[in-house]
Amino acid sequence: MKNKAYLSLGTNLGDRFENLVKAIESLKGYHEIELEACSSVYETDPVGYVDQDRFLNMVISIRTSLTARQLLEVCMRIEEELGRKRLIRWGPRIIDLDILLYNQENIETEKLTVPHPRMLERAFVLIPLMEIQENIQIPRAEKSLAAYLQEIPDREGVQIWKRKNGEGVFALFEN
Ligand code: ATP
Ligand code: MG
Ligand code: MG
Repeated sequence: MKNKAYLSLGTNLGDRFENLVKAIESLKGYHEIELEACSSVYETDPVGYVDQDRFLNMVISIRTSLTARQLLEVCMRIEEELGRKRLIRWGPRIIDLDILLYNQENIETEKLTVPHPRMLERAFVLIPLMEIQENIQIPRAEKSLAAYLQEIPDREGVQIWKRKNGEGVFALFEN
């Protein structure tokens, strides 16, 4: 599958780990999607709208034959299937599935902006992303991911919650 994408997953309602597992299982259920790598799971302080429970966040990389637009539709369908309701912007959610990167493309449409417009300001994205691939190139970014991370004041709000042991893509979900 020729396209490579990175997705960010976040959840702070219900059984958060189960929500991550279900979202990944759903993605794997699409024959156009192949899971390539998963980060560890991090527990993170809420950002933006702070009066809510802590999140679990992780990043995965996939290979896909879907276009970016189709991938967004799949992400939104899975959010809906898992029961996500959109009430407060940046508020509590069962699952958020965002496209961080799609190949090296710059996409700016009404529905989709890639690279994700806020990814470089978010420690809960950068830390798991760097775990999967430290030296990843971000279109139009001038600095390394580590340099962006150093500028984020609340990066201590991101703590390891379940460490990925072993090399297998699914190592996180075994045992
Ligand atoms: P944020 O975008 O700041 O992470 P959010 O993920 O909570 O906020 P959502 O309510 O999940 O925001 O999505 C709002 C809209 O963002 C979606 O309807 C989608 O069309 C749009 N969107 C634009 N770019 C992206 C992207 N790269 N990944 C996911 N959604 C995107
Ligand atoms: Mg989001
Ligand atoms: Mg989203």
